[in-house]
Amino acid sequence: MNSPVNTAATGVCDFAVINPSTGAEIGRAPNMGIADLNHAVATAKAAFAHWSQSSDAERQNACRAVAAKLQEHAAELAELITLEQGKPLNGLGSRWEVGGAAAWAAHTAELSLPVKILQDNSDGRVELHRKPLGVVGSITPWNFPVMIAIWHIMPALRTGNTVVIKPSPYTPLSTLRLVELMQAVLPAGVVTVVTCDDVTSNLGAAMSAHPDIRKIVFTGSCATGQKVMRSAADTMKRLTLELGGNDAGIVLPDADPAAIAEGLFWGAFINNGQTCAAMKRLYVHDSIHDAVCAALVAYAAAVPVGDGMQEGSVLGPVQNKMQFDKVSALVDAARIKGQVLLGGVPGAGLFYPPTIVAGLQNGDALVDEEQFGPALPVIRYTDVDAAIAMANDSPNGLGGSVWSGNIAAAHAVAARLECGSVWINKHGLVQPNAPFGGVKASGLGVEFGEEGLAEYTDIQVIFS
Ligand code: NAD
Repeated sequence: MNSPVNTAATGVCDFAVINPSTGAEIGRAPNMGIADLNHAVATAKAAFAHWSQSSDAERQNACRAVAAKLQEHAAELAELITLEQGKPLNGLGSRWEVGGAAAWAAHTAELSLPVKILQDNSDGRVELHRKPLGVVGSITPWNFPVMIAIWHIMPALRTGNTVVIKPSPYTPLSTLRLVELMQAVLPAGVVTVVTCDDVTSNLGAAMSAHPDIRKIVFTGSCATGQKVMRSAADTMKRLTLELGGNDAGIVLPDADPAAIAEGLFWGAFINNGQTCAAMKRLYVHDSIHDAVCAALVAYAAAVPVGDGMQEGSVLGPVQNKMQFDKVSALVDAARIKGQVLLGGVPGAGLFYPPTIVAGLQNGDALVDEEQFGPALPVIRYTDVDAAIAMANDSPNGLGGSVWSGNIAAAHAVAARLECGSVWINKHGLVQPNAPFGGVKASGLGVEFGEEGLAEYTDIQVIFS
């Protein structure tokens, strides 16, 4: 019997890509197999021989050219993202994503890792060099397909590696186009893309075990990240794993509910909550709990939700059925004990309204699990130490936030949170000059800044 997995050198099978706003097929992507992956890795390996030897200035200029290309094609990429991911063109949607990706590419082009002189005296000279690794395998999720691809690809290229990227089967089209645009300004073979449906062909798993891939940079769920780590062991791959989070926000008693409502909303509901470092549970002091809930509900109720292609929409649908069902089930379980203050009733298709649920505690599923969707539990607390303990009572440790008019008090709470980033009076801000990564089960390593760049290199120390 023929295997349904395509193992030919070029794809003969493809799979449908669906617009989550309408349910309509908007395109098809090749369902590649192992032979295609091997071909892509061999191409990247051959390109590495030249690219790794190119000068720093050449690589910098190439990265600048990628940033310019992204700017030039921003409108087209934004439209593709909206069509396959669902997020609106407007607001913190696809135009914002592509703008951020271009800014990230431009910033990464300017980063460098010069030779460090560790010692230079009569005993000798010791130099620390940073060398590219080889072929980097990038595996991306469906929530920010272009932004995360840029986060993976640019530091790899800047440091002299070549890349094979595999996007999520839910959002392959924007990555296919992104890579095509990059290929127009980069030497042949430096970046290639493979796509598959994850059902009949799972190239993410094959990449994690591939002997000619030296590093995997993976953004996705904790469960898949653990699989990547397991299958990377045999070939001793370098790993950067940006995994799930269950970020807590803590509102201190002195915060002004009206002033923080907008920040709280977008901290939790950016990209419909389908953001790794979104605020996924909110602890509010008893003295202002009801006022914060009221201000948050008032802000959320006025946010327009609709088809992302309509200029008036500020939030779109949930991206896929699996995620939609997860959010629905968590809210349904929560309503038994909690009070649904807003939303909670599924709309048509994959639309789910911004939902705010009070009356829950740690131990309730909507609080303990990563919902990755538009439903925020608000938890009442009376003692700040207890709130910090509840925030830390999670296997995850991606981000956290503290909301207060007293910055020193907020800093003191921030220092006690077990997570890779803490924001004060905001949540989820990432920027290209600040390392970002999770602690505990939220990942391994960091992205961005010089620390992120260094993860794409081996250290070689030369003693003379
Ligand atoms: P996912 O883990 O289901 O998929 C991520 C990628 O892994 C996809 O490309 C998928 O095709 C691929 N994959 C599937 N099986 C694989 C395997 N066995 N080996 C290797 N790769 C495999 O995640 P998702 O549903 O696309 O994204 C949502 C999750 O990602 C959430 O948990 C979210 O918190 C997390 N996330 C984290 C960050 C971060 O920076 N920490 C950013 C965005 C998303």
